[in-house]
Amino acid sequence: MRLQVLGCHGGELPKYKTTCFLIDGVLALDAGALTGSLGLEQLCRVDDIIVSHSHFDHVKDLPLMADLIVGRRDKPVTIHASRECARTLRTNMFNNSLWPDFTRIPTRKNPVMQIKSFRAGASFKIGRYSVISIPVTHPVESCGFVVSDGSLSVAMSGDTGPTQKLWEVLNRTRDLKAVLLETSFPNRLQQLADISGHLTPQTLKVELRKLERNGAAVLLYHLKPAFVPQLKKELEGLPVEVLELGETFEF
Ligand SMILES: [Zn+2]
Ligand SMILES: [Zn+2]
Repeated sequence: MRLQVLGCHGGELPKYKTTCFLIDGVLALDAGALTGSLGLEQLCRVDDIIVSHSHFDHVKDLPLMADLIVGRRDKPVTIHASRECARTLRTNMFNNSLWPDFTRIPTRKNPVMQIKSFRAGASFKIGRYSVISIPVTHPVESCGFVVSDGSLSVAMSGDTGPTQKLWEVLNRTRDLKAVLLETSFPNRLQQLADISGHLTPQTLKVELRKLERNGAAVLLYHLKPAFVPQLKKELEGLPVEVLELGETFEF
């Protein structure tokens, strides 16, 4: 499995891009950095996008991508979203007001994009990949995921504060190679992290104790750009790696 880091921050500035990972060139996890990272041809090869939740930094390239790829693919791109997230995308994004409804353009039968919803906590298949969704702790319905290609698995936490079920599922996943895990704010903003459903280095430390690693790498993302140097200092000594833009992993 090839994992490309297209975006790994909790905000956007030059050299910082919002959450977006690409598996084997065809399956995206979140849509925070598709159109600013991929060329048009690569963009057209993305068949499926799993979104963790409806917050803007995770879905912002869906409308821009739809506009770019119209007329260039034979079949719709499938957006996999939890029920609440799917409702938000239909009502607030592809609503012919904020953006044209690309789930009906050019035709209802063969649109540019289709939204497929799942129950938070459900397992489903996407082509040759098996996906387990796990509800995590955030002000809106947010999911972590385990994605398996049949021989190995990688996981992504989604935006979350301290949580439980995610770790239970990961501890049952025998072939887990990597966990993409959020960390957003420095320790001094603990209160903000708590009310907004995010981790700081000190709550991350507690979360890591819940994970039986079995050799899996813990790769951090969603660092807020304004606090990256501070966060890196506070993360020193923890058995984790902070993701950098453009990195590619072969598992
Ligand atoms: Zn976010
Ligand atoms: Zn969020």
